[in-house]
Amino acid sequence: MGALLLDFSAASTQNGGGRQKGFDYDAAVAETYRAFPELKDRLFFYDLGKDCWVHPDPQMQAEIPRRLAEAPGQYDILKNRMEHFKAEKNSCAMYGPDGTRVIMLYTGGDTLAQLGPNADKAQNLQFTFDHELGHVICRNGGRSLDSLTRHENVADTYAAMRHFQRYGLDSPMIAQQILWRAQRVVSLTGMRHAEHFTGFVTEKLLADKDRMGLDKLSIAQTAQLAGAYATQHTPPDMQVKNLASEFNGFQKTLEQQNVQAGTPGLLGAAQDEDGNDESLKSDTAFRALAQTVLATKSADALHWGAKVLDAYMNGLLGATRNGKILVKGPAPEILSGPYWQNIRRTLDVVTAHEKTDNKPRILMANGQPYAPPEREKGPCPTKRMLMARPSLIGK
Ligand SMILES: [Zn+2]
Repeated sequence: MGALLLDFSAASTQNGGGRQKGFDYDAAVAETYRAFPELKDRLFFYDLGKDCWVHPDPQMQAEIPRRLAEAPGQYDILKNRMEHFKAEKNSCAMYGPDGTRVIMLYTGGDTLAQLGPNADKAQNLQFTFDHELGHVICRNGGRSLDSLTRHENVADTYAAMRHFQRYGLDSPMIAQQILWRAQRVVSLTGMRHAEHFTGFVTEKLLADKDRMGLDKLSIAQTAQLAGAYATQHTPPDMQVKNLASEFNGFQKTLEQQNVQAGTPGLLGAAQDEDGNDESLKSDTAFRALAQTVLATKSADALHWGAKVLDAYMNGLLGATRNGKILVKGPAPEILSGPYWQNIRRTLDVVTAHEKTDNKPRILMANGQPYAPPEREKGPCPTKRMLMARPSLIGK
């Protein structure tokens, strides 16, 4: 018993369990090098908010730019990507020169919040740090031709597992993150949201997390489990693409309505800093969403569409961004009145029916390990190109 307790507390300290403080980039990097000492001179971290390299060893910190500049052309590409991601207020993991890896984290307060706009800033940055790290340290964490979404599922699964270790299994933030990702795949035009839709896997993780013994795993063990779990449960590409395209009508109407409403449309205007009204005053687009949810023959579109529609009706989802464009949510009062009362009643009936269908659907979609299609043998030219110069691992 005593030994068990000792083991438990040792793992808890090792994986950062029980800690509750603000995000500290230096500490996060130091923690990573303690867990993976072999990465000290191969994986480098950059702060896009403060424009500096982050390393616990000052000598190494000064050495990083010199080392990367040994391959000048490739260093220029890296610096270009830094400017790009800084302008987007976004973060990413990159292949660097000579087998190195670079994680660029945007630490400004106005970054796109992965856990949703209402989440604590420190938890958001920690999640983004873990997400980018997951792209580098987990099996199948990098982009590949085998699957559109697997690398994002791996990164989100690792970040969610680390989140539960840091903040406890009862943290509501991962459920919020799923809703936030679902809002984007349902509401925004363009396929990039399908690539980042990890809800199928993260929702399954939410159901399984209490049985995984996450608090007893070291960081390296967590990375191993995240890679295996996300790889096993990643859905086929068509499933995610079909889900996104079910909502094309709503996505286009919402975009159109935002243009008519005179959306500021530029990054940085997304927050309500000038007292600008963030919400739409007409329910036209949201009626299109309700019609899709109630008419769809797709179990996935019903499941995710109902979740997002319900959250819009309950005022849980506001504005989001599509690249540099602000997309407003509904003003709370426009989804009321007889039409919306009727939608609410019908949705209750339809989702009650969905719940009874839930089990067979999930078994078909997620319960079977996903076998990627057979590919041609031999070196893949695109992958060789990706490895040869600084390019994106994931973002
Ligand atoms: Zn990513």
